[in-house]
Parts: sequence; structure tokens; C-alpha cells
Amino acid sequence: MRNKKAPSPLLKLITLPTPFPLSTVNAVLIEAQPLTLIDCGPKDPGTLAALEAALAARGHRIEDLRQLVLTHHHVDHVGLAGTIVARSGAAVLSHPYNAPYLTNFEAHRQRNLPFFAQIWAEGGVPGPILEKMLHSSEGMGRWLDPVAITRPLDEGDILTFTDPPQQWRVYYTPGHAGGLICLYNNHTAELLANDHLIRDISSNPVLEPPPLGSVGGPRPKRLVEYLRHMQRMAALAPAPRIAYTGHGEPVLDVGELVRKRTAFHRRRADKIHAALAAGPRTLWQLTEPLFARLTRGMDFFLAISETLAHLDLLESEGRVEALCRNGLVTWAQRPAVSD
Ligand SMILES: [Zn+2]
Repeated sequence: MRNKKAPSPLLKLITLPTPFPLSTVNAVLIEAQPLTLIDCGPKDPGTLAALEAALAARGHRIEDLRQLVLTHHHVDHVGLAGTIVARSGAAVLSHPYNAPYLTNFEAHRQRNLPFFAQIWAEGGVPGPILEKMLHSSEGMGRWLDPVAITRPLDEGDILTFTDPPQQWRVYYTPGHAGGLICLYNNHTAELLANDHLIRDISSNPVLEPPPLGSVGGPRPKRLVEYLRHMQRMAALAPAPRIAYTGHGEPVLDVGELVRKRTAFHRRRADKIHAALAAGPRTLWQLTEPLFARLTRGMDFFLAISETLAHLDLLESEGRVEALCRNGLVTWAQRPAVSD
């Protein structure tokens, strides 16, 4: 039987410091041909120095990297990509959904603001808090340099390496972010899960607008997707022996973690459903009591995103419905269907 904690001969986990509340982010180095880095941390001098030191400790330089895989568009995972590509000429592999965030973050941020503003206004969010949230993503672009995807990755694609030979299959697993991919090596039963599965915190199913090209189309239901794609990771065959995560320690029992996360979201959805027993509520009326003591715009954003995600889940199950009147959306329980 394989030792569950034996270090992988194929990859090296590199933990990088970040200036963000989650104080570190994990990158993964695949020491094979082509030399490949998976995620790279934000554009920050401390992060870059730590990455250079970690590579040097293995006898590599940034200039030696041939491929850079970006698992999703969040700046704490992709910010240094522009720097790395400028120095190494590495190919950039990522899901096409991430392209507008990677090529021109600020333009895409601006483009998305009306989408968010409409949801918050319809959700009854008070003006000052709405303003705070609109400003909360300002300046975010300073954490990344633009970079273009040179090889789009999607479900079923295979990354093939030599010396030592190995293959990693791409799983498209949106939920935490719309362009998130995991990589699985079914020979070694190692999963690269980034922020799809995190051992010690529950990943936020972050509210996002419809992808470019379907603007005005239906809003993605990120929690519904997230729960479905978590189940896919729990059902991998053979079962993952270890899942390397985007923050913190690896997960050694993916099935158990997925059960835990699913139960957590189930409880939160039930709590929101119960809060509607007293009558219809707006998104803001439901969010406020769940997340007391918030002050920062980004915290309000994440709290509202989380509540709306659970309403989406309840709606997909036919347990609640959204009613729109005079520009205000209220959520109401639907009578239980008995059969
Ligand atoms: Zn993330």
C-alpha cells in the first residue's frame, strides 16, 4: 500500500507569501519536460523573491520555465504570470473563460460593474454599502500584469510530460470561479485542486457575470455548479490519494472533505430557507443577520455573493422563488411538493 504522506517524486509544492488576508498561496512545480509551474502568486516583490528562491533551491530559474498553467483568474494565483512570461517565454495554459481577466483586468472589471450594481440594487442593498462594494475592487489590477493565454485548456485535455513521463488530465470544475480547472494524474492518484478544495476553509462560490459573449444571458449559478463538480472530484477513479490545494495543507481524504463541504452548504441553505418562513425577504435582509459586524466593501461583496449562491441552490431545488416588483427582488418560500 502506498504511503499516504510520501512526498510526490513528480511535483514540488511551493508556498508563497502574499500581501492578502489569506497570507500564503500554493504554486506547484512539475519537474519534468517541459518544466511547468502551476499558478504563481500575485505581482508582489515579496512573492516574486520567494518564487525565485524556491526555484533556485531546486536548481531552476524563472527563465527555465517552459509552461505556466493558471488554474483560475484570481489575482493571488495569476498576478506574476506577466513577469514570468516576459522573462521565460513560457507558454500560458488556462481555461478560455479567464482570458478577459488575464489580458485586461481593469477593462473587464469596469465592464462587470453594472452587472453587480443591478443585482445589489434589486437586492435592496442600502446605497452607502452598494457604493462601498463598487469601489472595493478598485486598484485590484495592480496585483497582476496582463498576459495572453497561448494554449486554452478545457475538460478532457491532457498535459503530457517526459523525463519522467506523466500525464495530467484537465477537469473543468467551475464554482469558486467560472474558469477553474483541476488536474488529475490517475497513475499517481494526485489531484491538483487549487481553490476547488481547500482543507481548512470553505471556498466562496463567488458571484460572477455571464461570460463575455453571452452578456445579458443567464447569470451563472456558481454554488450549484460548485457542488456538482465537487462530487466529480470525490468520484474520481482511482480515488485521489492526495489533493494539493491553493492555500494551506493538502487534503488526504477528498471524499470526506466533499461530504463536509456539502453538509456545510446544505445547513446554510436550510438556514436561509427557514428565515423565509416569516415571509418574503430581499437579498440584503437575508444577508445582514447572517454576517454581522462587516465593514469592508469586499467583505460585504463576499457575504452577499454567498447568500445569493444559496438562494440559487434553493431555487434550483424548487424550494424558493424570486419575485420582482418595482425593481426590487424578494425571495419567498415555495410550498413543499408532496408526492
Ligand atoms: Zn481563488
